[in-house]
Amino acid sequence: MMAVNKKEDIRLGLHRSDYMLDSETNSLLQIELNTISTSFPGLGSLVSELHRTLLNQYGEVLGLDSERIPRNWAAIQFAEALGKAWVEYNNESAVVMMIVQAEERNMYDQYWLINHLKESHGVMTIRKTLAQVEAEGLVLPNGTLVVDGRPVAVVYFRAGYAPTDYPSEVEWSARLLIEQSSAIKCPSISYHLVGTKKIQQELAKPSVLERFLDNEEDIAKLRKCFAGLWSLDNEEIVKSAIEKPDLFVLKPQREGGGNNLYGHDLRETLIRLKNEQGEALAAYILMQRIFPRASLTQLVQGGVCFEELSISELGIFGSYLRNKDKVVINNQCGYLMRTKVSSSNEGGVAAGFAVLDSILLTDE
Ligand code: ADP
Ligand code: MG
Repeated sequence: MMAVNKKEDIRLGLHRSDYMLDSETNSLLQIELNTISTSFPGLGSLVSELHRTLLNQYGEVLGLDSERIPRNWAAIQFAEALGKAWVEYNNESAVVMMIVQAEERNMYDQYWLINHLKESHGVMTIRKTLAQVEAEGLVLPNGTLVVDGRPVAVVYFRAGYAPTDYPSEVEWSARLLIEQSSAIKCPSISYHLVGTKKIQQELAKPSVLERFLDNEEDIAKLRKCFAGLWSLDNEEIVKSAIEKPDLFVLKPQREGGGNNLYGHDLRETLIRLKNEQGEALAAYILMQRIFPRASLTQLVQGGVCFEELSISELGIFGSYLRNKDKVVINNQCGYLMRTKVSSSNEGGVAAGFAVLDSILLTDE
């Protein structure tokens, strides 16, 4: 697409920036920025409402005030961004197409968005796998993407981020077809790439934020959220990580949870990669391990309640919509609180490591 200098006038980003509270400095440090298939605007906002409702009923007994749970409009605001993107595309008969995995496990989170999109914006959504797009899709000479006989205004990727989403050339040619069309892609290829751990690490290098921001205060605020991030051509850091693996996380360019390396695995992998020479090390980044304070929590999974020491990860949703130079939306859109047992390294809810949670504001 770069070779043919493809123009993308309309950009839609549905993002989530994740943080953990570092117990040493008591500051929120960024874990990562998600730019593709950002999940849980639907179920996350429902869980906040569930907790509010429970506190409305039992708050007095528990000594907790339901008003202290901040309202969470993530699903409504994400649907609004999709609806406004649809308006910018300006084709009354077009639909939003959600790209999903063949055996989708997180469909109710997605349906909640689709529901708001239909109810509040009158926009229809179709759900297709990449293989279905390849079989049923074509691009008209004017650039319109047509799938199953329907013009598509927005392609919203809730799949397409993992190697397993591209089991054959069929899926790659579906992605190419989508890219060749005038449909708005959420995310575009560039936004997709910006979500990689490599870019996060590059942005944390000295003088890089300055390329994108003018205001020094903004730069300082952003930088304060960055944990230590290093590329593996830094021999000093690789040596420290092999000596003290528990202070680091080794991350490949992957999404969706379950791919990072810790402790013993981290050390073994670094030693192996170093011996392999060549480009092997460049596929990973090293990150300072963040240690949030653990607290005793009641977690419910599969209808069973159990008590465990746990830690939480806060995600802030954000939406961005631009048509040429006109910025239509640039907003925070509510939050996602995830809590997991502190002994677990990974954090994914869909992956089975964490549960959905809410924030309760206190005076401390
Ligand atoms: P993914 O794209 O797979 O979600 P993440 O970078 O979000 O990758 O890492 C997955 C999980 O691993 C996070 O949700 C968090 O629980 C844990 N994690 C990631 N980075 C760190 C870190 N620097 N310190 C502590 N835990 C981390
Ligand atoms: Mg993550």
